[in-house]
Parts: sequence; structure tokens; C-alpha cells
Amino acid sequence: MIDVLSVASEAYPLIKTGGLADVTGALPAALAAHDVTVRTLLPGYPAVMGALEDARALREFGDYFGGPATLLAGRAGGLDVIVLDAPHLYARAGNPYLGPDRKDWPDNWRRFAALSYAAYEIGGGAAGEFQPQILHCHDWQAGLVPAYVRFNSPTPAKTILTVHNIAFQGLFGFEIFNELRLDYRAAQESAVEYYGLINYLKAGLQTADQLTTVSPTYALEIKTQAYGMGLEGLLSARADALVGITNGIDDREWDPQTDRALHTTYNHNSIETRQANRRALELRFNIDDTPGPLFSVVSRLTTQKGLDMLVGLVDDLVAAGGKLIVLGSGDAEIENGFAGAVMRHPGKVGFNRGYDEPLSHLIQGGADVMVVPSRFEPCGLTQLYGLRYGCVPLVSRVGGLADTVIDANEAAIEAGVATGIVFAPAEPYALRDALLRAVQLHARPKVWRKMQRRGMKSDVSWDASAEKYAKLYRKLLGVKEDDQQDD
Ligand code: ADP
Repeated sequence: MIDVLSVASEAYPLIKTGGLADVTGALPAALAAHDVTVRTLLPGYPAVMGALEDARALREFGDYFGGPATLLAGRAGGLDVIVLDAPHLYARAGNPYLGPDRKDWPDNWRRFAALSYAAYEIGGGAAGEFQPQILHCHDWQAGLVPAYVRFNSPTPAKTILTVHNIAFQGLFGFEIFNELRLDYRAAQESAVEYYGLINYLKAGLQTADQLTTVSPTYALEIKTQAYGMGLEGLLSARADALVGITNGIDDREWDPQTDRALHTTYNHNSIETRQANRRALELRFNIDDTPGPLFSVVSRLTTQKGLDMLVGLVDDLVAAGGKLIVLGSGDAEIENGFAGAVMRHPGKVGFNRGYDEPLSHLIQGGADVMVVPSRFEPCGLTQLYGLRYGCVPLVSRVGGLADTVIDANEAAIEAGVATGIVFAPAEPYALRDALLRAVQLHARPKVWRKMQRRGMKSDVSWDASAEKYAKLYRKLLGVKEDDQQDD
């Protein structure tokens, strides 16, 4: 049995702003099948404190990065958690990173240094009988953990850093250094410094024992200038320590046979009953019931996701007979673009500017196409949900999208392996071609049905990926392959 502390700033169902939460929420259960016990260290946000059950105090601190704090162990949202209850840092409602003005909290550096320091202390024995052998750190919010382990007194625990999105690095002015409780050698050896600033993600990438990212293609891409966001040199230097493991999905949470958010449940033998879900969606979004394909988006509305390109193509899509529904919020320009498209195309385009978990399920269960035209995409989850729900993914050929969807070119259709529509490069002209190709494919019902069925049968569960993480943990701990079978 291996004991792991997963260190994360979000975990579904407790607190979620994106795919990171889905991963940290689902991976512990998947790892249990591989003899790995995971506890998740989370900040004591109101949503986490409110869900915490059977809480017991592990340690109390008089002054923890500016105020009193307690480490609590308990259960929350189906997870074994350790919570850093520090009201001066986390007792704030709403988005975990942004204040009411939608700007970063000015003390985010302190909030996530504190989280990372707590992980480091747990690695050093602060949680009593729970002594993790591995500290599995997620994204920049946990990026300082391996740096504390490397430069302060060493802990017995090994460190892994998983990059879910290299665009978010945690950059702060160097003047905070003295408050980080990080040994001065970290500054001397320029482990945290990045062009005169402090970069939390870089600190982790430089010092963690093992690096992972969430798909094999993204692992290759981030070593290049086009995708590395300035960290490609460091990642190339550490290439031996970096692997890509594709995310799975929580297939109990996302199962069209049992999903209570659906109007009608179904499986790959009863795909035609999705029609009732589509009708429910059309009514919800004020869309007419004409037969053309219903395209959909469930996403942050940002240029990363390529949705500015889609805004510019809505007229072409509608002219070709397609309809579009969009669920999400983000950049004002993109939001305004979709709002304008609704005005121009009543009955053909719908836009829900918000975050709605049940509605995201209904969209997967009722729309015909899930559009994910990202400029870069570490893994992407909505295309995986689309595969499982028969909502055919239309994706750009980048990162995890390239690794999980097989394009419906004629050879793939013939061979019966196609699961979606893949386009490259991530440019408007190529997206336009892909949208029109989808309309044409939808008009070939047999081909379409086969593609849906094939997608629904593809393995998007955590099983294979959890096994890869478990193997990585064992490798880090020096457990030999032969021993692995018996333990
Ligand atoms: P990212 O983490 O970059 O935002 P992913 O595709 O990895 O992208 O994960 C996004 C997650 O957030 C998915 O579970 C998706 O269903 C969900 N999601 C995104 N926007 C919304 C929304 N507006 N309403 C409900 N769920 C959303």
C-alpha cells in the first residue's frame, strides 16, 4: 500500500473551476484499486468547511502566514481530506482565485504558499499517523511544495508535480520571498526566480522528483517554444523526468445510463432516445426543432479555447443548416459575440452565460456535436464526456484532444474507427471546414450513428491512467516491478 498526499486548490464536488477539480476529485477512487491510498489537502474554503464531516484537529498553529490556522482531517465530498483551516486566507465566498471584482485576490501568493507549506509539513510528519510517501502536487498552487522539500529540511516524501495548464504559473513580485519561509538557497540557486519575478510553477518544475502532464501530446508540446509559455527550456532540460498521462473521467458521475440530469437515459444500443434530451435542450435554449445538427459548447469562453474563432463562424454554421448552443462565461468580447449571434439567429443559436453543472450533462446527452476548437489543450475533458455520451467531439489537433479523438476521414470511417472530427491548424479557416464537414457527416445517419457508438465504447475511464500513476509512484519509491505484483 502506498500513501499519497494529493495537494490541490480544487476538487470536485467540493470546489471546481475547471478540469483540475474533476481530476483531483476522481483520481483517489481510481487509485484505490491499485493499492494506493490518497488523502487530499485542500484550502479551507467555505464550501470545503461546510462539507467537512468527522473532522478532527491534527495540528494548530498560532501564526500561519498571517493568522491562526488548524490542520483538520476528515471526509468531504466522498474524499479523505486534510483541510488547512485558515480563515484569514480562505474564508471568502465564490471563486477560489478571484475577488468580487473578478481580479485575482492580491494575497494569492500567500494563500497558496501556505497551502504548499502545509503539504511540506505533512510530508515531514505533521499529520501524525498519516505519513505520506508521495506528495502529489497539482499546478502552480502547489508548485512550492517540492521547493520546500528540496531547500528546507528534507522530508522522507518524494514529490510529483502535475501540470494541468502551463499557461497559469503563479507569478509574483520578488519582494514576497522573505515571507515564503523558503530557505534562501532557493533564491541563490534561482529555483524560484523567473525574469526577476517569483514563479511558483517553475519552482516546482525545477525541483520535483517527477513531472507529469495530462496527455502525451501536451508533454511533447510544452517542450517547444510554441506551447511552453517560456518554460520550454527548463522542461527540455528535465525531459527525462516528464511523462504525459491522459486524464480519464469519473464514469459514475458521467454515465448516460444513470445520469439524473438527463431527460432520458440511454446506452450505445438506444442512442435514438437521445432525441428527447435534444428536444429538452432546444426548449431550454429557445431553439426550434428543425432537424439540422445541434452543435454545442460547454467551456470557459477564452481565446485558449478558440471560441473567438467560433464567434466569427456562427453565421456560416447557421447558413449550412447547423444550430448552436453555448454554456459558459469568460472574456467579454466572446460573451458579447455569442449574445449578438443569438439576436441575429433567433431559434438557431442559444447562449447561457453561466456555470451550470446539471445543464452541462444535459448538453452532452442531447446535443449532436461538442465543439472544442482550442489553440492549446493540456487534456480537455468535455470531448471525453462527449465521447461517452454520443455527443460527437469536433476538436483541434492539439494536446489531449489529439490523443483522444480519431478523425472521421474516409479511411477511418471505412475502418470503423472514427470517433469525431479533428482539424488543424487551430485557425478559423480550418475550423470552418470542420464545422461544414460535421454538417455533411450528420446528413449520413448510418455513418453518424456508427461514429457515436464507437465513441461511446471507447475507454475514457480512469482505469488505465490510474494504473500508470500507480506505477510511477512505485518507480519513484524504488519498488521493483516484480515486487509490484505481490504488494
Ligand atoms: P479547463 O480545465 O481548461 O477549463 P477542461 O475541459 O479540462 O477545461 O475541463 C472543464 C470542466 O469544466 C469540464 O468538466 C466542463 O464540463 C466544466 N465546465 C466548463 N464550463 C462550464 C459551465 N459553464 N458550466 C458547467 N460546467 C462547465
